[in-house]
Amino acid sequence: MSFWTNLFSPLRSKGAFFSFSVKCKRCGEIIQGQVNVNNEPSSELDENGKTYYACRKVLIGNGHCFQQIEVFFTFDEGRRLLDKKISGGEFVEN
Ligand SMILES: [Zn+2]
Repeated sequence: MSFWTNLFSPLRSKGAFFSFSVKCKRCGEIIQGQVNVNNEPSSELDENGKTYYACRKVLIGNGHCFQQIEVFFTFDEGRRLLDKKISGGEFVEN
């Protein structure tokens, strides 16, 4: 019974998405991305043995440009954003 409860509980996934926007450095296209912070990041240990979560994503625009934009996010135990890195583009505010 708990299996089904966990799988379909709407509370578990509510508000679990971290949204961001990036700008391709080659063509300037703005690309929207999303991280499901409950499922996508993998847990890691920092040098002090403290748990954090890390997630890497590669984004490609819809246009004719094939520039790959790689983003890397880290989150703390409460799934709050700690740090972000990008190559191939830059972050823009939503
Ligand atoms: Zn581009």
